[in-house]
Order: sequence, then structure tokens, then C-alpha cells
Amino acid sequence: MKKKIIIALIVIILLIVVFFATKNPLAKEIYDGCKNIKSYIVVKTSDEYNKLDSEKKYYKSEKNIRIPILIYHEIPTEKPTRDLYYMQTTATQFEKQIKGLLEEGYTFISYQDLADYYDGAKALSEKSVLIGFDDGWADNYYNAFPILKKYNIPAAIYVVDDLVGTDGYFNWEQAEEMSRSGLISIFSHGRTHIFYDKESVETLISDVEIAYENIEKHVGKAKIRVFTYPYGACRQDQIEALYEKGYIQNMTDDEINKSDSLELKSLHRYYVKQNESAYKIIRNINELN
Ligand SMILES: [Zn+2]
Repeated sequence: MKKKIIIALIVIILLIVVFFATKNPLAKEIYDGCKNIKSYIVVKTSDEYNKLDSEKKYYKSEKNIRIPILIYHEIPTEKPTRDLYYMQTTATQFEKQIKGLLEEGYTFISYQDLADYYDGAKALSEKSVLIGFDDGWADNYYNAFPILKKYNIPAAIYVVDDLVGTDGYFNWEQAEEMSRSGLISIFSHGRTHIFYDKESVETLISDVEIAYENIEKHVGKAKIRVFTYPYGACRQDQIEALYEKGYIQNMTDDEINKSDSLELKSLHRYYVKQNESAYKIIRNINELN
């Protein structure tokens, strides 16, 4: 008999606990919070960027959109030989990525488009992407340029003056030919490939100005000048000084530009890794910071 009473009491206590737990506003909040997080994750991995409309264009003040800059280095015909997984993308893979992005409704823009957008003079699709190549590798001319022409894709190549025309790098005639196509913008990646953060502001400015005199002598003058620090090595005082001189500047950080925090003096760039599919690129450029 005593046992039965104890069991009944336990059951009653349990019922009371369950009753208050479900009535507890805090418990409900936590439950809703979890539900929200769950649906948020589901939306993010399936629908959110499928809902982006490539047809709609927005001025900078109208909507916060993502504007990724995809960075490549070498585009070899053979399979990658280097360990650094962002240094080489085969031409076949590169073409697959370009085709995939086009099929998914992405518009390839130039730095001039980005600068005009920044100034409020141009609207961009919320599926915009900009592509660039560091260093001026010869295979950019032999392998990437034909693909870019085939799909009518604009792109930027940041050259190192001292390397142009040396073993493994395209020469000034090839740079001029690419620039003349109207698709390729030749920008600077330094006079030499050094750690500029170890140099004075004056040395950096002098080197970049000399580099641009050289670029403009060979490929002509563009409305804008863009600079990419070798190794991403820079200091804030250098960034400010170059920006005052009118230079748009790229960072080396694997992050994604968003219009509400867009800064032409420190543009984020996403490093495309070997063997990434267009789908994976799209997922990363929509999910990374
Ligand atoms: Zn470099």
C-alpha cells in the first residue's frame, strides 16, 4: 500500500513538473529560438541564394548585396602540381566554374563597374561576381584568356613589373593584346613581388607609381588604378596614403564584399581553391563573411 502511494506521488510530481515546464515562457522562447535557428540553417543551405534574382539590379543605397571578387593564380592545362591549393586551377576546371556561374545567372563585372556602383552611378545584379588573377602568369594568356573571350567575361590581371616577360609570365605584347580585347584590365601587383609592409610609405607610393607608368606605357591608360599588395602584406598608413592618391586596393583575406561595408581602399577577395565546383563557389560566396 505504501509503495502505491509513493508511485502515485512520483507520478503527480512528474505531471506538475511537465505542466510548468511547458508553461514556462523561457522554455518556449528557447524552443522557438531553436526552431528559428533550424529553419534559418535550412533556408541558408537550400533556398536563400536560389531566391536571388539575377534580373533585378540595385544601386548601392537600395539593397545590401554581396559582391565577391574571385581570385585565381595559374591556369595550367595539366593537373595541378603545386601543394598550395589556391595557386592552380586547371583550364578545364576554370571553364566549368565560369560556365556554372553563368548558368546560375551570375553577371561578371569589372572594377570600373564596381567603382561606378560605389559612386552611385551604376546598379548591379544581386548575382554579381568579379574575377581577377594575381601575378601575371603566362598561362593566363594561353589558357584563361581564350575561355574569357569565349564567354565574353571581363577580368582583371594584377601584374608585377619585374616579372612581366620573364620565364613563366606573359609579356607586354600579350598584356596589350588582352587589354585591347576590352575584356581584360591590367592592374598592378607591385614593381617587384616584395613584402611592402616592411617598406616606407614613400617607397610603396614610388614603386606603385613607377609600376603604373610602365603599365600605361604598354597597355594604355584606364580611368581607374587598382593595386594588390604582394602576399597581402600592408599597413594601414600605406592603405590610407595610396587611397589618397586615388588607388583602389585589394586585400588578401578570403572574405566577401557587401555593399553596406564596401570600401574601395580595402576590397575583400575570395581565393578559389583547386577542384571547387561552381556550386561550391556559389555556396561559399553566399555563406562566408
Ligand atoms: Zn602575388
